[in-house]
Amino acid sequence: MDGVQPTDLRADCASCFGLCCVALPFARSADFAVDKAGGQPCVNLREDFRCGIHAQLRERGFPGCTVFDCQGAGQKVSQITFGGRDWRGDPGTARQMFAVFPVVRGLHELLGYLTQALTLDATRPIAAELRAAVDRVEALTLGSADELERCDVAAVRAEVSELLLRASELARAGLRGANHRGADLMGARLRRADLRGANLRGAYLIAADLRGADLRTADLIGADLRDADLRGADLTGGLFLTQAQLDSAKGDASTRLPTGFRRPRHWPRA
Ligand code: SF4
Repeated sequence: MDGVQPTDLRADCASCFGLCCVALPFARSADFAVDKAGGQPCVNLREDFRCGIHAQLRERGFPGCTVFDCQGAGQKVSQITFGGRDWRGDPGTARQMFAVFPVVRGLHELLGYLTQALTLDATRPIAAELRAAVDRVEALTLGSADELERCDVAAVRAEVSELLLRASELARAGLRGANHRGADLMGARLRRADLRGANLRGAYLIAADLRGADLRTADLIGADLRDADLRGADLTGGLFLTQAQLDSAKGDASTRLPTGFRRPRHWPRA
């Protein structure tokens, strides 16, 4: 790729100052055992920025932490934007570091979608536009803390979304998939449903029964798959799926995954 070096979108917690455990707020719920305000360190965060209950997150009531993925934003903000200065040793950085983290995370999410679109044969007609968008978003992530704080991620997202939609339509052309964009399918009975090439962008599939469903080449961007039952489902070629979405769902050894995804550790092996 021309221009700046491609970003590593895999989280590297060892190079991060625990930003997801401090910067983000969370409410007491089935996902988090306690309330926490944005900017307040989690009670389980150790002095060395590691999680004190990492091996027992689900058992201790923090399953939400096991599905969160900063997509490499944490180490970028810690090591590049702030040059390795941490919010404990240099408290003057804290406010801006916590403000900038969700901005970079949003940009990295877009980079993940764009680079995924670039891997598809069907998107060759718009490959140059996709590459240009990757370069533009990548450059934004490398801005100064002040520039990042001013960055309008929603505007960048709107611009990139139009391109991603075209990529999706090219990839799903000829499949005549159902259109469930933004649909409320919470708890829906979709066992063995034919959803090949379906538009499930932003659909609410929380706790949906998708056992044995055919989701090949379905567009799953932003779909809420929390507790969706994917046992026996075929997600091969699924578009814009993220590891975090997969981690939030239920599945097993019979769930067929797109290339490059790992089977969540909490899924039964056999
Ligand atoms: S429980 Fe652990 S992983 Fe979750 S926010 Fe707290 S320190 Fe971070």
